[in-house]
Amino acid sequence: MLSAKQIRNGFIDFFKGKGHEFVPSSPIVPIGDETLLFANAGMNQFKDIFLGLVSPDYGRAVNSQKCLRVSGKHNDLEEVGKDTYHHTFFEMLGNWSFDDYFKAEAIEWAWELLTNVWGIEPSRLWATVFAGDKADNLPKDSEAAKLWTKVTPIPADRVLACGKKDNFWEMGDTGPCGPCSEIHIDLGPDMCDKKNVAGHKCSVNGGCSRFIELWNLVFIQYNRTEDGKLLELGTKYVDTGAGLERIVAVMQNKKSNYDTDLFMPIINRTAEITGQKYTSRLQNDTDNAFRVIADHIRSLTFAITDGTTPSNEGRGYVIRRILRRASRFGRELGMHEPFMYKLVPVVVECLGDAFGEIKARADHVSTVIESEEASFGRTLDRGIEIFAEAAERAKQTAKKTISGEDAFQLYDTYGFPLDLTELMAQERGLKVDTAKFNELMEKQRERARAAQKTASVNITLTDTELPVTEDVHKYKKDSCDSKIVGFVDNEGFKNKGQIKDGAEAGIVLDKTCFYAEAGGQVGDCGIIKSEHGQFIVDGTIKIANCIIHQGKVAEGVFSVGDKVTAIVSKDRDATKKNHTTTHLLQWALQQTLGKSVAQQGSYVGPDYLRFDFTYPKAPTAEELKDVENKVREKIAEDFPITCAVMPKEAAQKLGAMALFGEKYGSEVRVVAIGAESKNQIDKALSKEFCGGTHVDRTGIIGGFKIIKEESISAGVRRITALTGQGLAKYLEGRSDIVDKLSVMLKVSAETLVDRVGQLMEDNKKLSKQLKSAARQAGSDAMAEAKQLLEKCEKIGDSHIIVSRLATTSVEQAREAIDMLKKKAKSAVVVFGFEDEGKATLLASVTDDLIKKGLKAGDIVKVIAPIVDGGGGGRPQMAQAGGKNPEKIDDALTKAGEMIKEKLASA
Ligand code: ATP
Ligand code: MG
Repeated sequence: MLSAKQIRNGFIDFFKGKGHEFVPSSPIVPIGDETLLFANAGMNQFKDIFLGLVSPDYGRAVNSQKCLRVSGKHNDLEEVGKDTYHHTFFEMLGNWSFDDYFKAEAIEWAWELLTNVWGIEPSRLWATVFAGDKADNLPKDSEAAKLWTKVTPIPADRVLACGKKDNFWEMGDTGPCGPCSEIHIDLGPDMCDKKNVAGHKCSVNGGCSRFIELWNLVFIQYNRTEDGKLLELGTKYVDTGAGLERIVAVMQNKKSNYDTDLFMPIINRTAEITGQKYTSRLQNDTDNAFRVIADHIRSLTFAITDGTTPSNEGRGYVIRRILRRASRFGRELGMHEPFMYKLVPVVVECLGDAFGEIKARADHVSTVIESEEASFGRTLDRGIEIFAEAAERAKQTAKKTISGEDAFQLYDTYGFPLDLTELMAQERGLKVDTAKFNELMEKQRERARAAQKTASVNITLTDTELPVTEDVHKYKKDSCDSKIVGFVDNEGFKNKGQIKDGAEAGIVLDKTCFYAEAGGQVGDCGIIKSEHGQFIVDGTIKIANCIIHQGKVAEGVFSVGDKVTAIVSKDRDATKKNHTTTHLLQWALQQTLGKSVAQQGSYVGPDYLRFDFTYPKAPTAEELKDVENKVREKIAEDFPITCAVMPKEAAQKLGAMALFGEKYGSEVRVVAIGAESKNQIDKALSKEFCGGTHVDRTGIIGGFKIIKEESISAGVRRITALTGQGLAKYLEGRSDIVDKLSVMLKVSAETLVDRVGQLMEDNKKLSKQLKSAARQAGSDAMAEAKQLLEKCEKIGDSHIIVSRLATTSVEQAREAIDMLKKKAKSAVVVFGFEDEGKATLLASVTDDLIKKGLKAGDIVKVIAPIVDGGGGGRPQMAQAGGKNPEKIDDALTKAGEMIKEKLASA
């Protein structure tokens, strides 16, 4: 029996034998493609080739692509665990022809591999071809239909024609597309999951699990234009995809993908950890939990390795949802503590040979998963209780629906992603009011959405006509003479016309020395000048191989064909210093903290640099000092820097570090610090794959300081640092602060720290004294009040206490009132006192007297005007302030009269 590894290699070797170049999988997180959250098909990395934006280095390619189908057009999350052959993460084996061979070879080779090489019984295989489509005025793909019976021995009755849904493949609303041919396998009548459905007949694309799709051969021969029309392409492509997990199941004679050597080691380890048993049954909750966990841990391992971190947005949120979903299934296996992170080494064992990146990042992945599991675990149990209550309520409703408010609370307070709530609802036969949930989400988003800065020109180009800009000059020059070849505005690229004074646009030149934003380094700013005008460039970006200078016409007119001079701002010198320093910083961090440090991201601008890296805990102050000193040392040693372009394999051999998840072409640029020339690169201090701009020698950097170190997510740290001018400015600011403090505290800078220490000490003493004085004053007020109670007038059992106090604190007066009311049981108290030229009056009445019609609020209302004030309050307690403290006594006299009158008449 072949192992999964042998089958994967068998596929690759088979097509290598047919002249295909092996192209490694692109990262699961597409870099520079914001339209796609995760790679979902082998073709993603070749999209620009199909669009005609770049030409391929090879005519034929073969690969095994890491795919994640959890969002957008392809989302198989719901299927996972419930069937035996849909996963969130899977490998798509593919062979490609870029205008080389076409349908005949693709069909013949697929058949040859499946039946001859792998020995799958031909009678179990079925093929489909495109049946044609009236709306699109497309004929049946008779070419493919004929080829099937011509180049393979398959009988005509096992070649079925199917509709657009299954057999016409489109990348999106526009762009390359074409008919496809699928290969399905008949797993036998036992595998049908619709046996009990009346009238069900098993068939290819018939909706049951007896027939499953193994391989899809797409023939790209049309381009769909904006108006929906299909144009025949001059160039024709073959794009195929076969699910490795499904093929392995067939080859290993298993009923389920989960029973193969791709999943069983993970399932076995889960069984060990949880003490539960996996029995490979489909309609079984425990088995289902095993499958979901085994599936999800693979997705998590790959997505986190390629640079995603769980968060509340975009890719990070999708990953968080998968993790939380798996965590919840862990509860079904009795797991209340983090456990999934322990499965990471098994995933690495299964797939680390094919994808070395997961091996290298295993520790980081475990750290991230464990920390997420722990933090979700804290609210999960409580959330499950809240869910149960919400489900009870939902059962009472006519529509058996969990309210949007409940779903939102579960999301907002307990971190339950909507699909987790939906899943749990489904298990109880309930629905969720997602419309209301989304409305509440949208409201929350609106609140959170801060006014975001937008680029001057909003470019969404789908244009295939973008010219190629020659931009090697960015490494050598700060200015160059050039010619305008076109403009980009909100409508796209134009190769004729003009832009005038005040217009915001993108200028495209035939050649440029501007650096377009990439690899963390900001795009250059500067100006483009001609005889007729001046254009301010406030950013530079690259789309395909076209460099776009974004900005605004400051004066004059620019036309296509104009001769211009492009001048990069001096800021770039500062950016270069920061960029070289990020390389030194990475080197120093690895020296001090070890090899677990790997770059996660960076920002390199003229103002500062930021470096994100994997490390499980906060570095100590000493470690950071050490890193800082190492970088400074290397700056002082004035090392030379050499940049060289070479084949990727050669760079790897030299030990150059590549950014994880980044996809590189066959030629790469290596930046080496400490190499005088190309043949010294192997001995250089730091060697990195990098397309950025750098200083010639480290001495120019001038200085270095870490100004901040923080955690940005589990297992990821961020350092912010300064060099050169930025550092000088920062230090000047600090020095100003010191000067100001010296003046304020009247001491020299050298004695500032002692002086402030002394002030803090004094402050502590003084506040201690203040506190004890206040305590004393409080007890004085109490003593005064006690005397008042003894001397006061009484009507029946009620005490009438009306007095001017020596205290000046409302709190103390209130405390005294509380004490008096408690002691006297029945009392009316009116106090007045003076504080800094103002009068304060307080009145309070016990409940029995309120019943007799005497209310504190009424008393204050009457007496406050006497001190030129106003105020009021409740019947129990009222307070007023006034501007005339001289009249306090008058006000108190009036209060006394009023009280007696009221109580006499009661
Ligand atoms: P299906 O109809 O079975 O969902 P599909 O039409 O979505 O498949 P394609 O987009 O054509 O599949 O992908 C090519 C191949 O990738 C399929 O033939 C199948 O072998 C495999 N594949 C697709 N989706 C998955 C998945 N979720 N898990 C595992 N393999 C998959
Ligand atoms: Mg599908």
